[in-house]
Amino acid sequence: MADLPKNARVVIVGGGIVGCSVAYHLALRGCTDVVLLERKQLTCGTTWHAAGLVGQLRATHNLTRLAQYTTNLFKTLEAETGQATGFQQRGSVAVAPNHERFEELKRGASMARVFGLDVNIISPKEISELLPLARVDDLVGGVHLPNDGVVNPIDTTQALAKGARALGVKIVENIKVDSIIVEDGRAVGVKTTQGDAGNAQADIRAEFIVNCAGMWARDLADAAGAIVPLHAAEHFYIVTEAVPDISPNMPVLRDPDGCGYFKEDAGKLWSVGSSQLPNHGA
Ligand SMILES: Cc1cc2nc3c(=O)[nH]c(=O)nc-3n(C[C@H](O)[C@H](O)[C@H](O)COP(=O)(O)OP(=O)(O)OC[C@H]3O[C@@H](n4cnc5c(N)ncnc54)[C@H](O)[C@@H]3O)c2cc1C
Repeated sequence: MADLPKNARVVIVGGGIVGCSVAYHLALRGCTDVVLLERKQLTCGTTWHAAGLVGQLRATHNLTRLAQYTTNLFKTLEAETGQATGFQQRGSVAVAPNHERFEELKRGASMARVFGLDVNIISPKEISELLPLARVDDLVGGVHLPNDGVVNPIDTTQALAKGARALGVKIVENIKVDSIIVEDGRAVGVKTTQGDAGNAQADIRAEFIVNCAGMWARDLADAAGAIVPLHAAEHFYIVTEAVPDISPNMPVLRDPDGCGYFKEDAGKLWSVGSSQLPNHGA
């Protein structure tokens, strides 16, 4: 039997970056009677696949403020926890192949300025100086955010977990939450199992249950009568062979019209897309 408490103030389901961040932030605010349960290993879900881009500018004010908070947190997390995060502020460049997209990017840049973000509207020539590998002859312009960053998502999640543990949170791997116990319409605990054979483990009663099970969150909630509007979507990425002369400080290239982005990764080019091949990469 795993060493599980019978009660906790908060049970967090899922040890991806979201679950570990919730654990860390609860503990920072003094809520340390927290147990995080991960059915396999920390980061084994979607977090493992992430490219690790830390963009500061989002579509709404609140999301932009949250992204700014994240950027500031990543500046100090490594020093605080002693766990490397791989955080580097290499910047990003979003490119526009037409005037309509350029207009949209410039509006985003105005919003970025309202938030005090460092942002520059740049010409194709300046894009070429920042990204010598990019083709720019069919671009109208772009927006450069010099302080956008990249992290290693696995290491960052481990840093959040380490910070949470140091503050008293209990993190248990290889324990699956089989179901949420509901009494009188309220979640009051979790039933757990261990291993592929699904060996039953002790139930944990809790005041709060935080569902951070990523793309599995919907089914877990559904069985307890709650609706989580999450749906997994296909997302692909390509990693090239080593690219000669690629700079390890290359800003991330974002190509919204090509539905993709490009970043340097260990001397290779990592390209992520969602529905069509990007147009403006190397
Ligand atoms: C190719 C790709 C590139 C990406 N790039 C970026 C990027 O550059 N920047 C960015 O910000 N985001 C990026 N993302 C998105 C990012 O990866 C996700 O938003 C993030 O990892 C989600 O974290 P999570 O903790 O919610 O989910 P997950 O990492 O999936 O964690 C959920 C965890 O819950 C566990 N779990 C599930 N059910 C149970 C259960 N019943 N009991 C116990 N444990 C359970 C799982 O094992 C898993 O570990 C990218 C995603 C992909 C696929």
